[in-house]
Amino acid sequence: MSLVIVGSLAFDTIETPSERRERVIGGSATYCALAASYFTSPYLVGVVGEDFPQEVIKLFQHRGIDLTGLEVKEGRTFHWEGRYGHDPNHRLTLKLELNVFGDFHPSLPRKYRQAGIIFLANIDPDLQEEILHQVVNPRLVAMDTIDHWIKNKREALFRVLKKVDILLANEEEIKLLTDEINLIRAGRKILQLGPELVVIKKGEHGALVLGEGWVFGVLAHPCEEVIDPTGAGDCFAGGFLGYLDRVRQLSQRAIKRAAVYGSVMASFAIEDFGIERLKNLKEEEIKERFLEFKKLVSFA
Ligand code: AMP
Repeated sequence: MSLVIVGSLAFDTIETPSERRERVIGGSATYCALAASYFTSPYLVGVVGEDFPQEVIKLFQHRGIDLTGLEVKEGRTFHWEGRYGHDPNHRLTLKLELNVFGDFHPSLPRKYRQAGIIFLANIDPDLQEEILHQVVNPRLVAMDTIDHWIKNKREALFRVLKKVDILLANEEEIKLLTDEINLIRAGRKILQLGPELVVIKKGEHGALVLGEGWVFGVLAHPCEEVIDPTGAGDCFAGGFLGYLDRVRQLSQRAIKRAAVYGSVMASFAIEDFGIERLKNLKEEEIKERFLEFKKLVSFA
C-alpha cells in the first residue's frame, strides 16, 4: 500500500531525573519512520537544516526509508527541549525553536500522493490539512496531536479530525480534546467527531484501541527503568501503521496485532536516549518481544 509519514525531524535536548542530553536526534517523523522501517519501506516527508547529520540521512537510507519527500533547507533544524519528572508520562516543553520547520509547506512527490496509508504526526493541524489536500484516495489516514494544538488550534484540529480514520493520542490529550474524564466515554466522543478508530496511548500502562462496538487493550512491556520516554508515541504509530502496511489488511485482527507491534516498538524506544535503540534492531528481537506480549496476557 505504501506508508507516508509527515512530521518533524529534530534535535532534542532532554532532561530526565537522572541525566541531561543535548541535541540528540529526534522528531516525530524520525521516530515513526525508523520504527515503521522494520515492517515496510516508509516515505518520509519533513524538513531539516544544513546542520542535520549526514550519518542520520545514511541511516534512513540504510533502513530503506524513502527520502524523496525530505527537504534540506538553508538554516537550522527544528530544536525541541523538554524535561521529564519522575513520572515518565508527563513532560514539560522548555524550549521550541522552529527554525526551518517554521515555514514548512511541503509539496508531496507524485508517488507519495497515491499512497495507501498517510500518517500525520503531531504538526500544526493547518499543515495536516494541507497534506490531506494533496493525497488521492488513501485507504487509511491516521493522525496524532499534542496539547499545544488542542489548546491553541482547536477549530482547525476538529476540521482535520473529520477527515481522518484513526486518531492516535495519549490519555491526557484525549481528555483535553473531549472535556471528559472517563476514557471510554472520551473515546466514544472522538468516534463521533470523525475517526472510525481511536488509539489511546497510556504510556507505561499500554494502549486502548476503540472502535464502534469494540475495545481492545494492549499492555506496555514491563520495564523497570525508562531511560528516555521521548518518541515512544511515534514509535507506537510507526509499528502500528508499518505492520498494517506490510499485511495490507485493515481487519479487526490485523488492527489488534498492529497495536501489539506498536507497543513492541515503543518499548524499544524508551530503553535508550533518542533513536539509539532503533538504529539496528534485529528481526529476532522484535519477534521475541511480540511473543513476550502474548505471554503477558494469556492464561489457561
Ligand atoms: P513523542 O514523545 O512520541 O510524543 O514525540 C517526541 C518528539 O516530538 C520529539 O522528538 C520532538 O522533537 C517532537 N516534537 C515536540 N514538540 C513538537 C512540535 N510542536 N511539533 C513537532 N514536533 C514536536
